[in-house]
Amino acid sequence: MPYSLLIRNCGQLLTMAGSAARGPLTGAQMRDWPILENAFVACENDWVVALGPMSELLETHVTAATQVLDAGGRVVMPGLVECHTHLVFGGNRAHEFQRKLQGEAYLDILASGGGILSTVRATRAASDAELLENALHHLAGFRCYGVTTVEAKSGYGLDAETELRLLRVAQEAGRRQPVRVVPTFLGAHVPGPEYKGRPAEYLDMLMQEVLPHLNPQEVPFVDIFCEEGAFSLADARRYLEQAQAMGFGLKIHAEQLHDLGGCEMAAALGAVSIDHADYLTPAAAARIATQTQGQTVAVLLPLVPLFLRQDRYAPGRAFIEAGLPVAVSTDFNPGSCPSKNLWLALSMACLKMGLTPREALAAATINAAWAIGQQQHCGSLEPGKRADLLVLDVRHYEEIPYWLGENPVRHVVIGGKLE
Ligand SMILES: [Zn+2]
Repeated sequence: MPYSLLIRNCGQLLTMAGSAARGPLTGAQMRDWPILENAFVACENDWVVALGPMSELLETHVTAATQVLDAGGRVVMPGLVECHTHLVFGGNRAHEFQRKLQGEAYLDILASGGGILSTVRATRAASDAELLENALHHLAGFRCYGVTTVEAKSGYGLDAETELRLLRVAQEAGRRQPVRVVPTFLGAHVPGPEYKGRPAEYLDMLMQEVLPHLNPQEVPFVDIFCEEGAFSLADARRYLEQAQAMGFGLKIHAEQLHDLGGCEMAAALGAVSIDHADYLTPAAAARIATQTQGQTVAVLLPLVPLFLRQDRYAPGRAFIEAGLPVAVSTDFNPGSCPSKNLWLALSMACLKMGLTPREALAAATINAAWAIGQQQHCGSLEPGKRADLLVLDVRHYEEIPYWLGENPVRHVVIGGKLE
């Protein structure tokens, strides 16, 4: 069968290959993944079917029907995987930026009815069509940055009806354009304004009125924000245990601003990811790595402390040395990270968390795919995986986090189609 798409003359083909059967890349694996020099990658319809050095290209599969893209010696790599975003919301919080710059703390802005709650008001007031238009706008932005799979959390409705609406909008946005969308239910972002001071009752409401209406086949993960001003460790455990019993995979926002023990708790329950982890200690990271046998991924979000002007960043270098697999994401959201530039997040992971360029690239591709259960489909280039890949405007992978804030994307291919 002829190739439908052939990308030839890849100066460096970053495959990230080989982990799909085992687990996320850990320790030295995060910097040892294969790079093929002077290589090709071939697709049939949606799938990668062959790759290797140019000398092994089977020209018999290249026919008049094959679309040929000459990479001209540039870097080719898997599409980026965004494993932590809050995609669907109304309005924005540009008006709070000034308050932050004048020194108001995130939790103080939240306590005064700003922060998450101001986005909740705008989101509840928005129509489905407005929310969908916003989501599609942001997905188009992600696609420009070479992001081909996006996790999308709910969490700005904070009542049963709006939370279900946000998940439906995320799914619809996924159907309307090529970037893949993986929805996560984050109704437990903070207690809804009607439940101020009653977080446990709010979680009871979610367990009774929302979770039974969700299908784990369509919304595979349930997430919770375990933090002062959000949900306690005990409440978070009770909620995640219930979600697990109902068939959902688990995620947690934890150790973002304080060390409450949320990461260890969720990892012990078998969470697919533990996110933020700025206050997770290397000792706790080592215990998690041992207990989960490297299956739970720490999702690092370096643009958040940058935007919140915090000094503390997750000790990513120590996590990797402790055997904890790490992913990197933007945490795109209207409050603490209004950026879709995952390349900038990679640079910041190197500058502030001690990752090497190769580790950062694995963190935003194959390990990010593991963090949202998509490792069979994306995150690496190997036969049988979806043909989601990028041709970059650089000739060596080391340039990727070096050109700070630039978008190196030249071409985006999703499902074998040049976008
Ligand atoms: Zn988040």
